[in-house]
Amino acid sequence: MSLITVKDATLRYGVTSALSGVSLSLNPGEKIALIGPSGSGKTTLLRLLGLQEKPTSGNVVTLGCDLAGNCATSIRETRSKIGMLPQDLGLVANLRVIQNIILGRSGTRNFLRTCRDLLFPSKTDRDEIFATLERLDIAEKIYDRTDSLSGGQRQRVALARTLFQHAEILLADEPLSAVDPARGRDVLKLLTALCDDAGLTLIVSLHQVELAREFFPRIIGLKEGQIAFDGTPTDDEISDLYSS
Ligand code: ADP
Ligand code: MG
Repeated sequence: MSLITVKDATLRYGVTSALSGVSLSLNPGEKIALIGPSGSGKTTLLRLLGLQEKPTSGNVVTLGCDLAGNCATSIRETRSKIGMLPQDLGLVANLRVIQNIILGRSGTRNFLRTCRDLLFPSKTDRDEIFATLERLDIAEKIYDRTDSLSGGQRQRVALARTLFQHAEILLADEPLSAVDPARGRDVLKLLTALCDDAGLTLIVSLHQVELAREFFPRIIGLKEGQIAFDGTPTDDEISDLYSS
């Protein structure tokens, strides 16, 4: 069964068509890179896949749920299985690293429980978070304030937060945008290895075509809101994607 199905989805903002007539089927465990020029619809597509936004027409079903109200469980429960790594990371600057990570599970814990966990994290949570941060090489930062970290470290915290969420799908919007270009390859290596270990389906938007080719067996090219190719693009398809 496919994990996400998109059928003829169009999303308009006023007169702008951010996406038009997009159809896709994504399977569990896949690793997919979305590439395309700025404004081609990558962020919009990730938001649709993550059930953050409803298409103007067409349909998006993620983990058996759509925003038109057809949901096997509830939208909240479905969203708790979808990890979003937005481009701005969405971290709370004045909270400690451990607290930002604990917020990853707020979708499955009630408000009071989340407040208690933020103030008095359980030993189980602390151990799990410490182990994840160790793997990400920033375990010593666990009690630091998040705004004292570098861009690359903050990105690891955001990644730890989605891993702590125990999501089934990870949608990452330009995860390399805040990272030193020389470290981009290491970040993707880590990200794809973590997703493989956790059995997470990974969908990433990227600008680095060569890195997309190296790490992602399936590459979807977006141009002006439409799918230009889906699979393993040729050099000509790549240059057409970026030509105006
Ligand atoms: P990408 O992530 O590939 O740069 P986006 O998905 O952000 O592209 O944007 C696709 C198109 O939709 C662009 O033309 C952009 O200006 C427009 N767009 C995106 N979000 C909004 C919004 N909230 N309001 C109006 N237009 C938007
Ligand atoms: Mg974008």
